[in-house]
Amino acid sequence: MKFDHVGVAVRSIEQTLAVYEKLGGFEVERTEVAGQKAKIALLKAGETSVELLEPTSEESSLAKFLREKGEGLHHIAFSVEDIEKSMEELKGRGFRFIYETPADGKFGSRVNFIHPKSAGGVLVELTQNRRH
Ligand code: ZN
Repeated sequence: MKFDHVGVAVRSIEQTLAVYEKLGGFEVERTEVAGQKAKIALLKAGETSVELLEPTSEESSLAKFLREKGEGLHHIAFSVEDIEKSMEELKGRGFRFIYETPADGKFGSRVNFIHPKSAGGVLVELTQNRRH
């Protein structure tokens, strides 16, 4: 497992990007993941990145997170070579996943999330990236 990115829930990507622009010059890639009802801005920082997530629907789990907890750290993500294999192994060790099968992530990746209740209170994303 390699550390891949940290996900930050925000109400407005534009406003938060202005903050990160002041912090340093990041290369920014934007996309939207329909299945997760989120707009994404990826700020590259070396081998890893900061993923800003803005909900596109009030019905999304991200919007619910913002209502309940406000803006801030949403998840940490590790990349894996074979997400099905990793899910099988981790299920065998007692971890619970949000989805039965991997979902579509950004830029052609396939993702799943370990429930925070089985991962020390933090939502953990596994991502099998198309680009390495
Ligand atoms: Zn993520």
